[in-house]
Amino acid sequence: MHDTLARLEKIPFPALRRSRLDTLQINVGYRCNQSCLHCHVGASPHRTEEMSGAVADAVLMFLERRRIATLDITGGAPELNAHFHRIVTAARAMGVRVMDRCNLTIFEVDGQQDLPEFLARERVESVASLPCYSLDNVDRQRGKGVFDASIRGLRRLNALGYGRDGSGLTLNLVYNPQGPSLPPPQAALEADYKKILGDQHGVTFNSLYTLANMPIQRFGSMLVSKGEFDRYLDLLQHTHLNANLDGVMCRNLISVDWRGFVYDCDFNQMLDLPMTRATKDRVHLSELLEDDLEGNPIRVAGHCFGCTAGQGSSCGGALGT
Ligand code: SF4
Ligand code: SF4
Repeated sequence: MHDTLARLEKIPFPALRRSRLDTLQINVGYRCNQSCLHCHVGASPHRTEEMSGAVADAVLMFLERRRIATLDITGGAPELNAHFHRIVTAARAMGVRVMDRCNLTIFEVDGQQDLPEFLARERVESVASLPCYSLDNVDRQRGKGVFDASIRGLRRLNALGYGRDGSGLTLNLVYNPQGPSLPPPQAALEADYKKILGDQHGVTFNSLYTLANMPIQRFGSMLVSKGEFDRYLDLLQHTHLNANLDGVMCRNLISVDWRGFVYDCDFNQMLDLPMTRATKDRVHLSELLEDDLEGNPIRVAGHCFGCTAGQGSSCGGALGT
């Protein structure tokens, strides 16, 4: 795989500082039942990095001590981690809003068949990847049979009340472009998704998040191989809007890796750009129990234009500028 960090670090990006911390995003491991082309994690069934019980305990202590409002659990397929259920149950018992970044096909993996019922019981918000409403595009990007399995997964969630008015069970979908282009306007695409998934598959959901592909990991490497890296970075830089800088997720979120080390966001985690604090060039979550991070500088580089290009892009979709 081509390394993109050296290229990205040569590209200047406006300085950013942290605001109030409200979201803890944890990456509980890079193992996944899929190995999608656009994956910014480089996840696959062969990855072995996995959060331990001791780090899961540190996560729960941090949530409790710092009174964090939202826990965003990601991977790989986060549900494959042995401590996933324990983390969710304990966080919900503290009253924390919990989001699970779910690939939908995980429900058909051995041992995971009861997962939708567990998520519904704990009232976990489901954030599910579905990069298109067409079978061909999804299967090309995510693997053969993924579209049909995803529709079956969405129907199971709908049957439990997810994405249905008045149920209180939130189901949001995530779209990303097939290649090196910006996502189309979020509101219009959400309307198309709702119509087509509703009419053709009887599926409902709450909101669609449109995210730009990040020029890192598998997607970044593919751009380098095809000679498209510089053109994509030019596109991101030329469509950058300063107004999006206030809404980037790293201002209010920290990302924690499977070992418990802290990053300004998941993308920096994948580039191994740890959050720096005073004289430390790498910080563990367990060292931040009493530390207020407001004002801390954020580590930025060329990939950050993926968050500020066009309508902007964060873990909650377009930034609405
Ligand atoms: S994009 Fe999601 S589903 Fe696909 S390999 Fe990466 S973590 Fe797994
Ligand atoms: S990639 Fe986005 S979220 Fe991460 S540090 Fe850059 S601007 Fe912030």
